[in-house]
Amino acid sequence: MICPVCEGHLKVAVKEQQDFIGGNMTLISMSCSSCSYKSFDVVPTESRPPIKLVLHVKEKKDLNILIARSSSATIQIPEIGASIEPGTASPGFITTVEGILMKFKKYVKSPDAIKLVNHLLAGEPFTLIVEDPRGNSAVNSLKVEVKGL
Ligand SMILES: [Zn+2]
Repeated sequence: MICPVCEGHLKVAVKEQQDFIGGNMTLISMSCSSCSYKSFDVVPTESRPPIKLVLHVKEKKDLNILIARSSSATIQIPEIGASIEPGTASPGFITTVEGILMKFKKYVKSPDAIKLVNHLLAGEPFTLIVEDPRGNSAVNSLKVEVKGL
């Protein structure tokens, strides 16, 4: 494949593994050998209905809960009024709740919003909402509420 940034050679790695909710999913990662372009996506092997995952983060150890977000999903934290939207600049990822807060910290611009994210990183309770119209995202915790969209 060809790199969308520099047209160099794109290395594609495909790996199939079990996801948190017991289905199979395919992890596709692409990296360019000439520039720093990297892309990552999560694709389920079977098709799924749209889902909304609601996680109430109540204590600091909840920050270690793993989240798999596909590139079709939106992540929202209503308490700080911010979201990560689907799009080509927003590839899929697997990370912890803390990792998502770190991503938000990079996205938000105002000092007030950064202060809010720091409060959440320090263990203040908040709500994490993942909406995925293709149903490819998962939260690795029994505390998560799974709703239809
Ligand atoms: Zn490149």
